[in-house]
Amino acid sequence: MNSRSGWLPSTSPGAVAVMSTLVTEGAMSRADLSRRTGLTSAAVTKVVTPLADAGYLQEVGRSVSGSLGRPASLVEVCGEAAYFVGVKVTDVEILGVLVDLSGQIRATQSRKLASRDVDEVVESIGALTESLRESADHPDRLRYVAIGISGDVDRESGLVSYSPFLRWHGVRLAQQVQAKVGLPTLVENDVRALTAGEHWFGAGVGKPSFAVVTVGAGIGCAMSVRGQVLAGVHGVSGELGHLPIAGDRACYCGAVGCLETVAGTAAILRDVSTAVGSEVTDLAAAVAWGEQDPRAAAVFHEVGRVLGLGIASVVNLFGPQSVVLTGEGLVALDLVREPMRAAFVVQAYGQAIHSELIVRPLTFEAWARGAATMALQAFIRGAV
Ligand SMILES: [Zn+2]
Repeated sequence: MNSRSGWLPSTSPGAVAVMSTLVTEGAMSRADLSRRTGLTSAAVTKVVTPLADAGYLQEVGRSVSGSLGRPASLVEVCGEAAYFVGVKVTDVEILGVLVDLSGQIRATQSRKLASRDVDEVVESIGALTESLRESADHPDRLRYVAIGISGDVDRESGLVSYSPFLRWHGVRLAQQVQAKVGLPTLVENDVRALTAGEHWFGAGVGKPSFAVVTVGAGIGCAMSVRGQVLAGVHGVSGELGHLPIAGDRACYCGAVGCLETVAGTAAILRDVSTAVGSEVTDLAAAVAWGEQDPRAAAVFHEVGRVLGLGIASVVNLFGPQSVVLTGEGLVALDLVREPMRAAFVVQAYGQAIHSELIVRPLTFEAWARGAATMALQAFIRGAV
């Protein structure tokens, strides 16, 4: 899947460290680059010079540094030297962002999907990518496309093994999109892509480890540890929604008692409908019921309790510094917060209770940006 043309002139560990630091932290002096990366000043120069000659870095401004007030130029990334497209796929639409080499979002576009048919989705991603490419100042500098999609996704092989919401099995999505757009393309589980974006540009900046937990149609989770998002050798990791901690209902995945069978949106709608004796078809309406009807409130209480158990399981197993809670299910947060907290406090083991919970509403643009971040990282690291 690699196409070395247009790659950075160097993807040595030093170059990766320098580029990553400049993208995530902005312009800085060579001395600060040396301190931040642990490279000697000679090594920094050896890295910066070819990257600057190739147009990826530039010297800007001059700051006063040191007690003698010697002027020092700053090194920064040339944003327009390369562009990346990140796409978030849902069952009803695709949303894409164009991001430049400095990580800035340059354009956002979306398209409704006429169907979940693979060819239709590939066609739409191709058209969206082309439209975003045309919006760039330098369309010929689009380097990489990355797609975030829910389900069991193996980035190494580009295979979507199973995506329940699209009802896909065994789709080689990366290869199909790559053939369509003519650019290196990677595909990754959408929660892991979001987590990569949060690590470089969001709530995970500077954190040695953190987890992202998403609540909504599915319950997702990904872990970032020392700058790497855990992927699982078989494409599966962080399947919090399928921990058997929520009773004894059968789950679509084939197991029993999965968290999603109580806390996923479909389960909430079904349980609130049953509780109030009236069909409730969207989460906002279910929340409205929960705010005024104790029978519906009891449903949300149970949702909060099992979510608290789930989050406690994450901190007990991995010990992240923070857990970022996001997803469209946050609309019910006021109804689930207290039982979630109470269950977490009981179930968190020892000092794991000190993991910080960050509630962070994120738009679909943030999910697409996560995918674009993976494309940007792959470009800097010189690998898919
Ligand atoms: Zn399940």
